[in-house]
Amino acid sequence: MKWSKSYIYTLKEAPADAEIVSHKLMVRGGYMKKLAPGLYTYGHLGLRAIRKFEAILREELNRRECVEVLMPMVHPRELWEETNRWSEMGAGLLKFQNRNQHWFCLGATHEEAVTDYVRNDIKSYRDLPKNIYQIQTKYRDEIRPRFGLMRGREFSMKDAYSFDADSAAALKSYDLMYNAYKAIFDRLGLNYRIVQADAGNIGGSQTHEFQLLAEAGEDALLVSDTTDFAANVEVCPAIDATPHISSDAEKPLEKFPTPGQKTIADLARFTGQAEKELVKTLYFSANEGLDVKDKALKPFAVLLRGSDEVNPVKLKNLLGMSNPPLMLTDQEVKEVSGASPGSCGPVGLNIPVYLDNGIAGLRNYIVGANEDGFHLKNVNHGRDYAFTKIADLRIAREGDRCPQSAGLLKSYRGIEVGHVFYLGTKYSKKMNANFLDQQGKSLPFEMGCYGIGVTRTVQAAIEQSHDADGIIWPRAIAPFLVHLCVLDPKDASVMEASNKIYNTLEARGIEVLMDDRDERPGVKFKDADLLGMPLRVVVGKRGLDNKEIEIVERKTKEVRKLSLDQVLEFLLSY
Ligand code: ATP
Ligand code: MG
Repeated sequence: MKWSKSYIYTLKEAPADAEIVSHKLMVRGGYMKKLAPGLYTYGHLGLRAIRKFEAILREELNRRECVEVLMPMVHPRELWEETNRWSEMGAGLLKFQNRNQHWFCLGATHEEAVTDYVRNDIKSYRDLPKNIYQIQTKYRDEIRPRFGLMRGREFSMKDAYSFDADSAAALKSYDLMYNAYKAIFDRLGLNYRIVQADAGNIGGSQTHEFQLLAEAGEDALLVSDTTDFAANVEVCPAIDATPHISSDAEKPLEKFPTPGQKTIADLARFTGQAEKELVKTLYFSANEGLDVKDKALKPFAVLLRGSDEVNPVKLKNLLGMSNPPLMLTDQEVKEVSGASPGSCGPVGLNIPVYLDNGIAGLRNYIVGANEDGFHLKNVNHGRDYAFTKIADLRIAREGDRCPQSAGLLKSYRGIEVGHVFYLGTKYSKKMNANFLDQQGKSLPFEMGCYGIGVTRTVQAAIEQSHDADGIIWPRAIAPFLVHLCVLDPKDASVMEASNKIYNTLEARGIEVLMDDRDERPGVKFKDADLLGMPLRVVVGKRGLDNKEIEIVERKTKEVRKLSLDQVLEFLLSY
């Protein structure tokens, strides 16, 4: 492709809303352009990178006998009501009515659509397994779209769905996809980790995320320093490296005044006790999202050490909720406990109380007295208040014990680029998607679902692979392999050599972008660095006079000065 005939407009400055480097570079390189928050036009170069990645996806999936289809983006309400996700998905699902007042939503994910697709086709175990996939635009009404394609509202996803006769076979399908994902991300040559994860409101019991390591990643990961254990902090077990177990005898309960002491930090200062020895009480609602409006509030309390943070995903999973529970407002806390959040505690409460593991070994601790301006000391669970369960409810952190060894956990940031789930029969049961087994018995399909964020991955690759001058494309998804800078396009010998390179590469199917603009060399070099194709070839009058053409490797900046024939030889065998 020739620059003069293409549509490439680069920018010197990134727009103010671009916070992370990959977003800045993609906009500056004209790879994409914002239409509205979370909505982007992919420029020609951006689209080429996306198509390259799609080709890798198709190759690896087709090789594993997955079948490509394309399902609608617009879904009728009735479909999502079959699984109750019309309401469970919350505000992320964009809903609208057509001219006949029928409700629809934009597909945020396609479990319902694919289950509907197969439910009357696959009748017998003999037809199983099947794996069906698509590369389709998704829409999620993200509250805060940001970081460009990382968290868009409209984005492209590769989603695959497996159908099996029993759970053993379904786990085999899961492994197949897990390995396909490894092959896919290995081909990009990027630094990624496979981590244990939460299933979110997709549901399912076994799940892993593929995370590209990057400081700008939105996910916190914990990785063992001794084993291959790695988990998203959302689900990482929290184990104290040195558990605290008090052997003190229980002392008599005592109320004492704590005027104006509202936070754990206040209380630590006031009592002289360390935050990790204080206990905080948090209040949540077990109501599912929107149903609080029409139903009675179902409050519960969670106790943790003052130095720990509650993990809402662990609460969600403990209570079998489909979304993490919401915290009560100050007003609701007062109604439930009789005190403001700074003075509330578990003693005398009439609601379920859950204790974090960190509380188990504590004795004679301080909690709020459920009376403003007072706390209780020498509090002991079991004796002074009843509790429903002791469980792992805190957020794990660096320095905690590895759950599989005596090692410790180290923290990283990651960008979730892929996610594999074993779903079981959650969707097939609700949607009546059955087949006949060997004995002629009707059974629901065992399902799995597998997503890769196509547009997110392309941008994440840049987040991991760039330098101060611009993008360094991994070869596998580079829009072009060769960026041919023609320094003196008005010079006949320069044009002749450039056209020879261009035509030879084109004829051999090697993708080349020829910068044939009438621009200064400095401008061309800057753009070439910004755009980040793996190889830059420079043809200029001065070089040619010495029978020299320059090849620069974008990644290493290694320069080769070669004759025209050598250049062609080098490029054709690169
Ligand atoms: P996240 O936790 O980042 O919101 P998710 O876990 O909700 O993502 P999945 O339902 O697992 O996402 O979707 C599969 C893949 O789709 C993700 O691994 C991610 O790569 C991609 N993806 C999800 N949401 C977005 C988005 N808003 N913009 C771009 N890609 C996305
Ligand atoms: Mg996910």
